[in-house]
Amino acid sequence: MPHMNLASGLVGACGGVQARALRCFGSVGDVQQFPLRKFLRIKWSAPSSLSFSYLYTVHITMEDVIILGTGCAGLTAAIYTGRAQLSPLVLEGTQPGGQLTTTSEVENFPGFPEGIDGYTMMDNLRKQAAKFGARYEHAKVDKIELEGDVKKLYAGDKVYEAKTVIVATGARPRLIGVPGELEMFGGKGVTTCATCDGAFYRDMEVVVVGGGDSAAEEALFLTRFCSKVTLIHRRDALRASQIMADRATSHPKIEMAWNSLPQEILADEKGFTRAIRVKDAKSGEEREIPCKGAFIAIGHIPNTDFVEGVLERDGDGYIIPNAGSQVKTEHAGFFAAGDCVDHVYRQAITAAGMGCQAAIEAERYLSEL
Ligand code: NAP
Repeated sequence: MPHMNLASGLVGACGGVQARALRCFGSVGDVQQFPLRKFLRIKWSAPSSLSFSYLYTVHITMEDVIILGTGCAGLTAAIYTGRAQLSPLVLEGTQPGGQLTTTSEVENFPGFPEGIDGYTMMDNLRKQAAKFGARYEHAKVDKIELEGDVKKLYAGDKVYEAKTVIVATGARPRLIGVPGELEMFGGKGVTTCATCDGAFYRDMEVVVVGGGDSAAEEALFLTRFCSKVTLIHRRDALRASQIMADRATSHPKIEMAWNSLPQEILADEKGFTRAIRVKDAKSGEEREIPCKGAFIAIGHIPNTDFVEGVLERDGDGYIIPNAGSQVKTEHAGFFAAGDCVDHVYRQAITAAGMGCQAAIEAERYLSEL
């Protein structure tokens, strides 16, 4: 990786200096990814009693824009800031491409009359941003600090610095929290992704838990493979949009289990899912619904733990934007976009719109520095 090799080389060159802290500054115009106007800063610090070679910290560059997340919001922000020649650095976390990579068909993103596969759509956005100069690195940021105008992002043993940051880290699936769920999660019958795992349940009976668009979509997708899909919902009406609700409830392979509260996911003698036990919300009666797979689709939790103490969040963990803006936060130069902020619309197109807004605001902020 050119960034780190160059940094390590300069640290080596400075290594003879016996000082507790050392800074080297220099232009690095010979490295293609670094524009001339940027400079490399290396900060080295080591207690004198220990070998410094294992303890130095390398601050690679001061970036104009760092974008966290590669879902619709993050990649749209990357397209806009890239096109504004800000050479954004995009940090991809544990789910490159975000939630849409686990969606089968996106039918409601404007411009695709035939619909588009979620993975293809995200791959296209990624390529489009790269075309305008976006750079990608894998890094899971676990802490953010503000030091004056400088935003510091900590990812394992790496530290990034930026003048502006766009947080677009999305959200992760919520679990029900009943016995058996975690024990059989991932490989033993409990999952949150029909697109990823549906094909494993060919000709089997499965259940989907939830009543929103995700649950309806998962249930419909599973009808391609499974012999029967029971959609378990805790109320007597779906929260899903009318069109999705109608499709799900009228599908011959989908059976509705209304007013049903999941109590436990039950294992067979080999530890694999065999049934889910539900309680009737009205009568209190319990019953078992046989299933080889249980697909949990009850919403999401925003991925915002790492901003704790830096950005204000609501009780569910969503970042709270400034009044009058969807993407500005209480700290100038710090923007947030997509599902980590928006708990109302949560659509691909609204996330992309927020990514665009955040990029334009970042550009304005930088032009005023
Ligand atoms: P959601 O709309 O928040 O729905 C979550 C569902 O899970 C609700 O029906 C809720 O029940 C149920 N639920 C929550 N906690 C539960 C628990 N502990 N036990 C049992 N059930 C529980 O989440 P979503 O379906 O993931 O959708 C999120 C957003 O993305 C929505 O705005 C949706 O329109 C959008 N989306 C759109 C599409 C599309 O257009 N193709 C596809 C997927 C998602 P209650 O109804 O009783 O609260």
